[in-house]
Amino acid sequence: MTAGRTTHNRTGDVSGEARRRRTFAVISHPDAGKSTLTEALAVHAKVIAAAGAVHGKAGRHGVTSDWMEMERARGISITSAALQFAYGDTVINLVDTPGHADFSEDTYRVLSAVDSAVMLLDAAKGLEPQTLKLFDVCRYRGIPVVTFVNKWDRPGRDALALCDELAERIGLAAMPVTWPVGPAGHLRGVLDVDRGDLIRYSPSAGGDAAPELRVDQAQAEGELGREWIRAREELDLLQASGGEFDVARFTAATATPVLFGAAVRGFGVRRLLDLLVDVAPGPAPRRDVEDRVRPLDAPFSAFVFKVQTGMDPAHRDQVAFARVCSGVFERGMVVTNATTRRPFATKYAQQIFGQERSTVDTAYPGDVVGLVNATALRVGDTLYTDKPPVRFPGLPSFAPAHFAVARPADLSRAKQFRKGVEQLGAEGVVQVLRSDRRGGAAPVLAAVGPMQFEVAAHRMEHEFTSPVRLEHLSYRAVRRLADPAQRPLVDAGRRSEVLTRLDGTDLALFGEEMDVRLLQRAHPELVLEPLLAEGG
Ligand code: GDP
Repeated sequence: MTAGRTTHNRTGDVSGEARRRRTFAVISHPDAGKSTLTEALAVHAKVIAAAGAVHGKAGRHGVTSDWMEMERARGISITSAALQFAYGDTVINLVDTPGHADFSEDTYRVLSAVDSAVMLLDAAKGLEPQTLKLFDVCRYRGIPVVTFVNKWDRPGRDALALCDELAERIGLAAMPVTWPVGPAGHLRGVLDVDRGDLIRYSPSAGGDAAPELRVDQAQAEGELGREWIRAREELDLLQASGGEFDVARFTAATATPVLFGAAVRGFGVRRLLDLLVDVAPGPAPRRDVEDRVRPLDAPFSAFVFKVQTGMDPAHRDQVAFARVCSGVFERGMVVTNATTRRPFATKYAQQIFGQERSTVDTAYPGDVVGLVNATALRVGDTLYTDKPPVRFPGLPSFAPAHFAVARPADLSRAKQFRKGVEQLGAEGVVQVLRSDRRGGAAPVLAAVGPMQFEVAAHRMEHEFTSPVRLEHLSYRAVRRLADPAQRPLVDAGRRSEVLTRLDGTDLALFGEEMDVRLLQRAHPELVLEPLLAEGG
C-alpha cells in the first residue's frame, strides 16, 4: 500500500518520486457521493477489497448527537487523513475532507495539503452550498479543480445546463473530458472527448472495478443513432464556446475538466484516475516565510495541517498530520519543529485513514504522514531535518461566523479551564479571542461552523475535566482591524467590539453588516479589512 516500501529510492530520486505523486481532495456537499467515489477510486486501484471498508456508515447522516457519538467512536467522517494507493506507476494520496454538514476550519485547512481537487457534483443538484465554500478556498489557494458529475445513472439536470452553471456561478469554463450519451437516468455511456469513442454504461455490469467497455465511433453511432448525434452536437456547441480542453487553463485554475459518471457503479472512475495522472499537478516546491523556494530534493521538510487528539480510544494520543514538502521522510528520523526549535522523534509514523492504520517507513513530497504522540506539534508547524532550517507560512485562520463567551461551569476547575482553552485554541479547534474589557476569565470562542463549539465543549468536559458554559453572542459581521490605535472607535460602537485572537490579529465584531457601514461612514479613516472566506 505504501509506495515507499516497495521502492527504496533514496534522496537521489526524490524529484522522481514527487513527480509520480498526485495529492488531491474531493470537495462536495454531503450526499453527493464522496464516500462512494473514494471507495470506487480505491477499489479501482485494488486497494480496498470490498466497498464499505473506508469508514463506518452508521450515523453519518444523523443529527448532531449521532455525530458526537461518532466522534467518541472516532469515526472517519470528522477525521482528516489521507488514503494512499498505487495506480499503475502513480502514487495517489487522497486527502479526506471532513464530510459532515458542519463546516469547520479543519475542512478548509485540509486543502492546504493538496495539489488539486476533485469537485464532486450531484447531477440533480449541481453546485451546492458546501461545495461553493470549499471551492472558494481552492480559488484562494489557486488549486486546480477537476469536476466529476455524479449519479448520472439517475434522472438529473441537463449536462449543458450544469456546465453553464459552472461558468456563471464560479467563473470556471467547463472543458468536457467525457460527455454523457443519453439523458441522465437513461445513460448509454460517455463519449470520450479525447479519443472520440464511447465508454459504454451498462447498469447490470455494475461493480466498482468493472472494466471499461469501449466502442468505436462508427459502432456507437450505428447503435445509438440520435442519442450519439445529439451528444456530439452538444459537445461541439460547448467546445465552440471555449470548452476545448487545455491543460494550461486547468492548472491556472481558470477552467475545469468535466467528467460524467456514476460512482456507485464505478462508472467514470477509471477515466477520472487517468485524467489525474495525466494532467493534475504533482507536488511543487514550496515557498517559505521569506519567500525562498525549498526545492523538492532539499532535505526533509513538512508542515502540519491537522492535529487530532484521542483518535485511539485506548490511548489519549495526539496525532499530527504532516504533508511532506521536500526530501525523504524516514521513520525514526529526528526532525526539528521550526516553531519551538525543539527536536521531535518520528518513531511512530503512521498512515491513518478511518480505522485503518499502517506504519509508514518512507514518505516523499506529496505524502501525508500521521505522527503519533505528537503533543508538541501544532497546526501550521513546520518540521525539517538538516540545514537549511525552513519555516513555511502558517495556515490562514478563517473568518469566524459564530461567537460564544466561555466560562467554567465549575469555578474550582478554573486552572483546567484555562489550560483546555489554550490547547483548543493552539490546535485550531476553535479560535480563542480576548480583550482587556472582557478580562481573561471569560474568553470568547469563535468558529467557522457551530459544531466546532460542540467539539470544544465535549473536549473541555472529558479531556480537560472542566465543563464549560457557553453564552452565544449575536455578532454577524467581522473584519480585521488594521491599526490597534483605532480600537476605541470600534469599542465605542453600540453593537461592536474588538477582540484579539491568539495569533495577535485584532478582530472587529459587529452586530450586522449594516453596523460596519455605519461606523465606516462616521469614521472614514477607520481601516477594516475583510477576512478570508468572509461571507463564505
Ligand atoms: P457523501 O455524503 O458525499 O459521502 O455521499 P455517499 O457516498 O454516502 O452517497 C450518498 C448516497 O448517494 C448514498 O445512498 C449512495 O449510495 C448514493 N450514491 C452515490 N453515488 C451514486 C451514483 O453514482 N448513483 C446513484 N444512483 N447513487 C449514488
